[in-house]
Amino acid sequence: MSLEESYALANANGDDLLGLLVAANILRTEICGNIVTYIVNRNINFTNICFVGCKFCAFSRGPREADTYFLTLEQMAEKTVEAWNLGATEVCIQGGLPRNLPKFHYRDILRAVKKAVPQMHIHAFSPMEIVYGVELTGMPLQDYLSMLRDNGLGTLPGTAAEILDDEIRHILSANKLTTAQWIEVIREAHHCGIRTTSTLMYGHTETPAHWVRQMRLLRDIQSETGGFTEFVPLGFVHQNTLLFAQGLSRTGPTLEEHLKVHALARILLAGSIDNVQVSWVKLNRQLSQLCLHAGANDYGGTLMEENISREAGATAGQYTSPERFQNLILETGRIPAERNTTYSRISIKVPLDEFTAEQSLEAEFA
Ligand code: SF4
Repeated sequence: MSLEESYALANANGDDLLGLLVAANILRTEICGNIVTYIVNRNINFTNICFVGCKFCAFSRGPREADTYFLTLEQMAEKTVEAWNLGATEVCIQGGLPRNLPKFHYRDILRAVKKAVPQMHIHAFSPMEIVYGVELTGMPLQDYLSMLRDNGLGTLPGTAAEILDDEIRHILSANKLTTAQWIEVIREAHHCGIRTTSTLMYGHTETPAHWVRQMRLLRDIQSETGGFTEFVPLGFVHQNTLLFAQGLSRTGPTLEEHLKVHALARILLAGSIDNVQVSWVKLNRQLSQLCLHAGANDYGGTLMEENISREAGATAGQYTSPERFQNLILETGRIPAERNTTYSRISIKVPLDEFTAEQSLEAEFA
């Protein structure tokens, strides 16, 4: 699809938008069948102390604020054991960036978690944290990533992307890594055998043209490396953010924007990044389900603990049990299936008596 055609889709309204959503839904059926995947995982946000100061972030705290916290390696190990005992296959570890972090702290987190539960998949450290780790240690990026991989890093979240356009990034966070740095970390991670997710934050100061350019950029990286596992659109939660308080953003995405971004991702990323995830912590239940009809095929993680969106004002909650996930998916007429981080293992989770003949056929097709 040409750039002009992609822009036209991103600006679709009224009946055209409806057409876009229907097309995305059909394409999703052709690519992913009728299955909606999810993962049982736990978020561990190990500290909220951060010097970066992103204006869209309501999670971070200055070091002298009253409600700061910093989890010890032992506490993180305990949380990993708890998660494993509750059926989690992944821990997702990210945190703020405190000044004077011990040089090899990210490596030591991996060691502590792996020692506690060797089988746990560790999905950890945003590209911003990787850049910080490189700064702290003075190691070349490739060596740093290889060291993390050799100490148990499974995959990397493709967060800290927001909008990959330096003008927008400057408004959102003047201290954040640049577009070029984000691309470098992701490419290098893929080359080191560390797969990553990919993300886009929408509903703040960006335009539909930014969505299109970002999706095309991700497509280009994917055709070079094949390292992306999924694409996750992240709706901006504006309530408690400086960006909104300073009048620099709109009030988060509209309903049309939520649906359009998921549909556009399905169409522009088809055949490249075939898993499009709904971020249920940022959307409410109905909206998550609607996005599953607008091109998405993955419900994300059960999370167990989620602090970042909640601090920003999201109300979708901190934990949804696997059973609740299954029911939410069944309500949409689709088949729930638990997956691992890289989508290489999928197991259908639906009681046989709830399995209609029609669903069985779809499952086989999927
Ligand atoms: S988004 Fe991350 S880097 Fe930015 S202020 Fe929040 S915790 Fe810090």
